Amino acid sequence: MLIDTHAHLDFPQFSENVPYFLQRAHQVGVHRIITIGTDLSSSAKSIQLAEVHEEIHATVGVHPHDALSMDSSTLDHMKALSGKPKVVALGEMGLDFFRDRRPRPVQKECFKAQLEVASAVQLPVVFHIRDAFQEFFDVIASQGKSLKGGVLHCFSGDWPVARRCLDLGFYLSVPGVVTYPKAHDLQEVVRKAPLDRLLLETDAPYLTPVPHRGKVNEPSYVHHTAQKVAQLRKVSLEEVARGTTRNACSLFGLEIPSSC
Ligand SMILES: [Zn+2]
Ligand SMILES: [Zn+2]
Repeated sequence: MLIDTHAHLDFPQFSENVPYFLQRAHQVGVHRIITIGTDLSSSAKSIQLAEVHEEIHATVGVHPHDALSMDSSTLDHMKALSGKPKVVALGEMGLDFFRDRRPRPVQKECFKAQLEVASAVQLPVVFHIRDAFQEFFDVIASQGKSLKGGVLHCFSGDWPVARRCLDLGFYLSVPGVVTYPKAHDLQEVVRKAPLDRLLLETDAPYLTPVPHRGKVNEPSYVHHTAQKVAQLRKVSLEEVARGTTRNACSLFGLEIPSSC
């Protein structure tokens, strides 16, 4: 069994046809999917999907690209949504100084405000951090103490950065990028990190793994990522599947399947 810990099933590529994508995921052993909110309306849609489909869980968050959507009522709405039964984390939230679509001070404020909510409601956090690890470590040093854990989704740092994230107690989530020939840093991280701290994700519809690169990504393709992780670590696919599933269940508070 595999879990896709980060997909955007509320996006138009999937939202009209979720049962079809769930069935394709089942066929390759992907039995749970966490669908990720990127602003309030996307979070609400994600929760709706989770309410209809047993195998889907949802998160509530405001992506750094959507930081300008945050106003005085957003945090109260987030708190209310986070109490819904199938919400397993807050996020994605964080800092994206790579695309830099919103002013950095606005991104920071949006991130910090959400961290307060995460501490208050005691849900783990899905972090989106790109080209902003030093700022991330600074924010966590001042505001990370009462968090209930978290995961750096689509981890894009090198091994020294990974080591610091692991020392802070966070999980690292491996996207399909690991299958790309030039992804040397991520491949090194996947080889060196302890298996009990890795998660798998697609970030569908983005970042499609080899051999489907160039097409729209979907949750079923997470098995290609799992295979690559197994190959890099020189262990069996079953070991990777069991380990990463256990990790995802313990981070997100899901029941660990008997097969793990
Ligand atoms: Zn992201
Ligand atoms: Zn995402």
